[in-house]
Amino acid sequence: MAVFKPADNLTWRVTGVRETAILRMANKVRALRASGADIISLSLGEPDFDTPEHIRLAACQALDEGWTHYPPIPGLPELRAAIAAKLKRENSLDYAAEEIVVTNGAKQALSNAIHALVQDGDEVILPAPFWVAYEGLVRLAGGKPVILPSSFESGYRVSAAQIAAAMTERTKLVMINSPSNPSGVVLSDTDLKALANVVRAHPSAMILSDEIYEYITFDGAKHRSIAALPGMKPRTITINGFSKGFAMTGWRIGYAAAAEPVARAMTRMQGAVTSGVSAFSQRAAITALEGPRDAVEAMRQAYEARRKLVLTWLNAMPGVRVLPPQGAFYAFPDVSPALNAARKAGIARDVEGLCDWLAEHHHVAAVPGSAFGADTSIRLSFAASTSMLEAGLERLSNGLAALL
Ligand code: PLP
Repeated sequence: MAVFKPADNLTWRVTGVRETAILRMANKVRALRASGADIISLSLGEPDFDTPEHIRLAACQALDEGWTHYPPIPGLPELRAAIAAKLKRENSLDYAAEEIVVTNGAKQALSNAIHALVQDGDEVILPAPFWVAYEGLVRLAGGKPVILPSSFESGYRVSAAQIAAAMTERTKLVMINSPSNPSGVVLSDTDLKALANVVRAHPSAMILSDEIYEYITFDGAKHRSIAALPGMKPRTITINGFSKGFAMTGWRIGYAAAAEPVARAMTRMQGAVTSGVSAFSQRAAITALEGPRDAVEAMRQAYEARRKLVLTWLNAMPGVRVLPPQGAFYAFPDVSPALNAARKAGIARDVEGLCDWLAEHHHVAAVPGSAFGADTSIRLSFAASTSMLEAGLERLSNGLAALL
């Protein structure tokens, strides 16, 4: 009889989902630190601020009041109502509380939506660069990611015409993320209108709009929700959450807003997998939405100051081209000349190899752009203190200069 190997029993679902380059880099940083190296990591997509105090206190109060039981699967009615009011007030969106599903992070909102709408062979359009998790989620649902490339020259924007050309009768979703992780691009009204025209002309396609960085915008860039455009509400699932703007990554709370049948389907999905979000996190989320926003604005201003610092450094590095991010907290410089030099010198075959080399030899960690569908860029997070950023950028500068 053949030897039993547990690994042989794994499904295509898990074997088909690759470890993300972000996780790989996080593991690399951990291993290098364990071996005694002093690594500066600019690879994390997490605010370096603690959750504002009034929100933390609201959770403590909720625990004392006994919010420790199973919550309703789609969320506490009072939080769903607060989210509907927020979407109306800030995004001109008309969702009823019944059209909101509170989720374990925005990631579960994305997962619920994709599982509710995508099945075997359905196509999902991913304009690149896109957040790493999207591709894996589409594959898990049996869908086919259709990746549309962009470049530094196109400003990391994929045009509505490119999207129109990629759509087929199997297209189920077009995924957008504005402000974008990793490129920092914020889609303008004109961009959104052009995309809405393309989607409305398709018999069944919908937009999955990830708006999690909405509060982090710079230079007067304004976030807009595509669902607010005429005819787009039934065609859109709006995803948002508390992780980035309110610095609540560890609370695991996000939400989706969609036409009621889709919201109900997402609730069914969530009920099958995790049930509702921790009740005291939900109570604190109400305070986040309805309480003062000074801390949110103070964090935005801190990111804006760091962005300036990062751009000054990057613009001074030879062979580096960078677009000023309009939102989120990442810079996404193109490093083609250093990459080509590294290839010629046999140091790295691709941008992943380049990032490995920078971590191992110059002790600075960045995420390779290939993780996001962009092969000549690296992602640097400025969710890090000014002193960390300065030290990390100096190492990066030295590393790239050594190659050129
Ligand atoms: N969407 C984007 C674009 C993100 O960058 C992230 C986190 O990095 C998420 C969603 C996930 O957010 P959450 O932590 O709320 O699940």
